[in-house]
Amino acid sequence: MSDLYETLGTCHPKLTRGRVWCRTCGKTQRVDSARCFRDGWPKCCGETMTVDSPGEDAHAAEGGS
Ligand SMILES: [Zn+2]
Repeated sequence: MSDLYETLGTCHPKLTRGRVWCRTCGKTQRVDSARCFRDGWPKCCGETMTVDSPGEDAHAAEGGS
């Protein structure tokens, strides 16, 4: 399955930048996305951190229509 992981880790813009955010406290952390697919994503405040930055979430919500 490593081929799938490597493909996801290299073709997805949000993953290739290698950064995750905590939705709860806003903390950001650099990660190796390929490694995270294998070993799991970092957690903060009891939840898995997301590759979607808080700024992008807000922009997507406002730009829908
Ligand atoms: Zn947190």
